Amino acid sequence: MMKTEQTCAKCGSEFRCGNLANDTMCWCMDLPSIPPEALSQFQGCLCPNCLKLIAQELKL
Ligand SMILES: [Zn+2]
Repeated sequence: MMKTEQTCAKCGSEFRCGNLANDTMCWCMDLPSIPPEALSQFQGCLCPNCLKLIAQELKL
């Protein structure tokens, strides 16, 4: 079985990755696309909350 729960690299909370879980759509498709430079400091994926915060900080 593939592990579909991801641990957020920023806050440590668990979240579901639609890509890994083979969902038709991942929730991340609904978010503004965040430049990779803004995420390069983190090892791995971030949870919805943290991605939204980063998008807000970048005024995306
Ligand atoms: Zn997080």
